[in-house]
Amino acid sequence: MSEGAVKKEEKPRKFQAIRGTRDLLPPETALWTRVEQTAHEVFATFGFGEIRPPVFEPTDLFARAVGGETDIVSKEMYTFVDRSEKLEPQPSIGSMDVFLEQVKRLSKSGELPQDEIDLELVEKQWKKVDGLLQGISKIEAGSTEIYTLIMLFEALRLGGDVSLRPEATASVCRAYIEHNMQQLPQPVKLYYMGPMFRRERPQKGRYRQFYQIGAEILGGPDAPAIDAELIEMLMTFFGKLGLEGTTLDINSIGHAADNCRRGYVRKLKAELEKVKDKLGADSQRRIETNPLRVLDSKLEHEQAIVEQLPRIADNLCDDCKMHYAAVKRELALRDVAYRENWRLVRGLDYYMRTTFEITARGLGSQNAVCGGGRYDGLVQLLGGPPTKGIGFAIGEDRLILSLEESGKVPAAPGPDVYIAWMGQNAYATAIRAARALRNAGLRVELPATELKFGKALERASKLGSRFALILGDNEVADGQWTLKTLRDGSQQKLTEPALLEYLLKP
Ligand code: ATP
Ligand code: MG
Repeated sequence: MSEGAVKKEEKPRKFQAIRGTRDLLPPETALWTRVEQTAHEVFATFGFGEIRPPVFEPTDLFARAVGGETDIVSKEMYTFVDRSEKLEPQPSIGSMDVFLEQVKRLSKSGELPQDEIDLELVEKQWKKVDGLLQGISKIEAGSTEIYTLIMLFEALRLGGDVSLRPEATASVCRAYIEHNMQQLPQPVKLYYMGPMFRRERPQKGRYRQFYQIGAEILGGPDAPAIDAELIEMLMTFFGKLGLEGTTLDINSIGHAADNCRRGYVRKLKAELEKVKDKLGADSQRRIETNPLRVLDSKLEHEQAIVEQLPRIADNLCDDCKMHYAAVKRELALRDVAYRENWRLVRGLDYYMRTTFEITARGLGSQNAVCGGGRYDGLVQLLGGPPTKGIGFAIGEDRLILSLEESGKVPAAPGPDVYIAWMGQNAYATAIRAARALRNAGLRVELPATELKFGKALERASKLGSRFALILGDNEVADGQWTLKTLRDGSQQKLTEPALLEYLLKP
């Protein structure tokens, strides 16, 4: 078959980015870089260090930290089994010793997710079953042992259940515990940036791969100044970027105790039962699953009802009340403007006291650019020591959208110098000149093939270059290079050192 015939028969498939994901391209990526660079700089001035956790973790970590009942965990996670193909076929009782050898070998060579397999336990279990198999009459009694063994092997065969991270607080807390960071001077201040994954309905400001910039403060006291300084850092960051129309909403959701949030939720639930018939299906369901979330409702006809519900601020215990009042004082000391929003809640038990959210302009209904709050119980919930914690996550995609809407996009920079060269002598000089100019930090375009000067100058202005350096054999022979300023078309002759000096002067 001729090549042409092959092409006709199987037209190669054209690939597209998966729904809800997208390519970030220049010149927009320059804005992403500026945002991230600003985060590095501002966060460093507040004493934060960067952490880069992996993008996938055991599914259980997120189930625990984010909550198995949340939409994120129950519907939106990208979960898969991290298995070794080499472990097929499935082990059977008769071939288990062979299988065990194979598992040992693969484990040694790093094929298996090591920490998920307790080889010793498997071996012990296997010996038990083997022993039982010797006395056939006892096999009935030993069937649970065999079953356990099969389950262990099954787990081995399948490998670990892992998920792409839907958020990063869980990973940061896991890392805090794993690296014994409670032994460092407290609190430990960490920030991260990177992609998160949630299988949501894609729309403006909502993607399946999106980016967050977040920070966490772990350990140390729960002094209100910590909450306030974290928020001050955020607002400083947004200010440096020139983000417009930001509003900071704050609230306190108390702590999980009968004389505080638990008591309030009970009261709230009772009130909600009374108006149940007037609520939509989602809110009706939430009365049972998570009454606080009803306060989140965006439904028009529910607003008047929600406004009549009891408010958490009137139901906080004395300690939480004092903490909230102090956070507000501390914010005022820092000139951070805020709005109290009693309907701002978080649904999970370990979230407590301070919660906050920042909205920005130009984002339609997806206008939250940042959410955060205190979560003093989370590290302990993940098997660590009792540890105070507070953090936030900024939606970088939305932050960038908002900056773009208000025209805060840096112009894409063209080259500083386009080198128009003709002739082989000139080419060697052009390469040298390009290297010298680039070493001095200038953006240089060196055409890969020879172009007539007219054509080269045309390209130079199309690219928006500031200067064209014209190098022909004459220029090289004289040691006098021609520099053309493209804005006004003026030309001058300069020696190589004079040219560098001229281009580098501010
Ligand atoms: P929303 O109510 O908008 O769904 P959320 O409560 O799910 O937000 P968090 O989990 O608190 O959001 O994440 C913090 C920030 O991350 C949000 O304020 C938002 O800016 C951003 N974010 C969350 N989900 C997405 C997404 N699918 N696409 C883009 N940004 C997102
Ligand atoms: Mg969401």
